[in-house]
Amino acid sequence: MTAHPPPATAGRSAQCAGGSPPRHSDLPARRLLLVHAHPDDESINHGVTMARYAAEGALVTLVTCTLGEEGEVIPAGLAHLAPDRDDTLGPHRADELAAAMRALGVTDHRFLGGAGRYRDSGMMGAPQNDRPNAFWQADLDEAAAHLVAVVREIQPQVLVTYDPNGGYGHPDHIQAHRVAMRAAELAAQAEFRPDLGPAYAIGKIYWNCNPRSEVERGLARLRTAGHAFLGIASADDVPGVVPDADVTATIAGNETYAAAKTEAMRAHATQIAVDGPFFALSNDLGQPLFRTEHYQLVHGFSGAAEGELEDDLFAGIAVPAGAARSGRIEEVAE
Ligand SMILES: [Zn+2]
Repeated sequence: MTAHPPPATAGRSAQCAGGSPPRHSDLPARRLLLVHAHPDDESINHGVTMARYAAEGALVTLVTCTLGEEGEVIPAGLAHLAPDRDDTLGPHRADELAAAMRALGVTDHRFLGGAGRYRDSGMMGAPQNDRPNAFWQADLDEAAAHLVAVVREIQPQVLVTYDPNGGYGHPDHIQAHRVAMRAAELAAQAEFRPDLGPAYAIGKIYWNCNPRSEVERGLARLRTAGHAFLGIASADDVPGVVPDADVTATIAGNETYAAAKTEAMRAHATQIAVDGPFFALSNDLGQPLFRTEHYQLVHGFSGAAEGELEDDLFAGIAVPAGAARSGRIEEVAE
């Protein structure tokens, strides 16, 4: 992927090359960090990926930046949770997220700065954007520092987040992208907040994406299948659609991982209606539930042969023999 300049961590990788050894000797050999805006984004975009790496014994850490308090509630029976009524959607969605993580086998889940530190900002232009505790109003370095602490603690070789537009322009998604990229940069700087742990440089950073041809094929399947939705999304309604050539990695789900993803998405019942291999958000426009997930490498080196796609986000990262699946190691050489 060449269209995007690498973040400032590139120039600092040498300083941390080979990495400082993990402070915790019981860290799994492979460590994946995902940064998302709201509960449900992780399952929609990465359910297969998270289930696979968790099952393989990698440490999968999800950091969610808000509780999703401003989401629209799908089930009529839960309409009272909405922000203009009881305003209890946040804690309810935290419970949905916990259930989704159980479905995916992921045990390390955190909210940025602690649950409720940053509030859902609502859609772009909404008055909720202007609330002082809205994530959209967060001071970038202050928010990033919360994530730097996580990065230096778990020392992920791989970071996954959104593209600069947050996939579809939601303020919290854009902000999650900014915070994740800034945290990657700051975590590698020894002079930044040494109280948060020794400097650590993340080896590979990916943005999640959906190749246009696959989205079009999925929507075509939906048009010919029976479904329970009000309508069908257009490709432009699907977040993170990119030209096929921008995709650098694909993670294909087997039956087990696809089922885990579906179960995780069902757990987000206030936000997602699942119907077989399709789903809809509160707009009730059907879209495909992808069992193959796609990524764009924007920092670090591809582990695939020239011109080929990676099928493993850790490809090219040295992991001690025998430690890759479930072993625990004293030190990771990167
Ligand atoms: Zn979201």
